Amino acid sequence: MKPAPFAYAKARTLDDAIRLLGEHKGEAKLLAGGQSLIATLNMRLSSPSLLVDINGVTGLDGISVKDGMIEIGALARHAALERSPDIAKHAPLIALAMPHIAHPAIRNRGTIGGSLAYADPAAELPACVVALDGEIGIIGTNGKRTVKAGDFFRGLFETALGPHDVLSAVRFPAANSDTRVGFAELARRHGDYALVGLAAAAKASGKSLTDVRLCYFGVGATPVRARKAEAALAAGSVDDAVMALDLDPSDDIQATGAVKKHLAGVLLRRVAKQLMEPRA
Ligand SMILES: Cc1cc2nc3c(=O)[nH]c(=O)nc-3n(C[C@H](O)[C@H](O)[C@H](O)COP(=O)(O)OP(=O)(O)OC[C@H]3O[C@@H](n4cnc5c(N)ncnc54)[C@H](O)[C@@H]3O)c2cc1C
Repeated sequence: MKPAPFAYAKARTLDDAIRLLGEHKGEAKLLAGGQSLIATLNMRLSSPSLLVDINGVTGLDGISVKDGMIEIGALARHAALERSPDIAKHAPLIALAMPHIAHPAIRNRGTIGGSLAYADPAAELPACVVALDGEIGIIGTNGKRTVKAGDFFRGLFETALGPHDVLSAVRFPAANSDTRVGFAELARRHGDYALVGLAAAAKASGKSLTDVRLCYFGVGATPVRARKAEAALAAGSVDDAVMALDLDPSDDIQATGAVKKHLAGVLLRRVAKQLMEPRA
């Protein structure tokens, strides 16, 4: 299929992009990597009157580490994160997740901002950002605001972004020597969206773990934290954590809810092992 007709504008600055979105009163959409948007246009799931291309906005693709926090600009491509020494050192969970996102050609164009704004419930990055207790920077017609990642994902493909908002950056605590992370997913083919996946972070405290955050994807409308399992894992028992898994995935075309719940337990055992091992 071909998309419905649309106009195209190239924003030079963030203000330019916000002005264009405001002028088109909910009829315009931002174009970042285009790896999700163009497919939805072609399938006529979406028919904006204007595409506002933000690829020419400078300064939106940086990666910086300051005051114990790492900040990633919305336009940072998946491939740039995959190759970044700063991401490997300060955001090891993102580094672990990156090779699971689609294929190299898609990672060359797709952006972290696009992935978070699109909010596919089976996508890796939204779950990572929730597991890392991140925050999302947003700029809109009413100025700047910050939303905790846990509050950002509101429903199926639904976020805290309004129609005139641009997601500008994501921030989360930079990893230190106590940081433990784990990541695993099951997909039919490598690079496909996951059937079920798990992104996790914790702090090492002697032989135990504290601040355990287990965030599943592919099991609900948004990234889903398994809070009872987090508490059980912090108490030291992987078996109890698996027993405590309080997930209720629905059946979908890939698997029944019961299969997904079983797979969630399998992933938890794999990820728990990663969390308990010090990083190399
Ligand atoms: C074959 C295929 C396989 C894929 N597999 C995976 C996978 O396994 N895991 C995965 O996570 N993803 C996967 N993707 C999606 C890919 O990661 C996309 O790049 C990503 O989801 C969207 O990023 P983008 O920059 O391409 O955004 P776009 O497609 O340009 O935009 C997506 C949506 O976000 C909005 N948007 C974009 N940037 C911003 C911004 N800064 N502020 C506000 N709104 C914004 C757009 O208006 C649009 O509504 C796959 C894509 C394809 C085509």
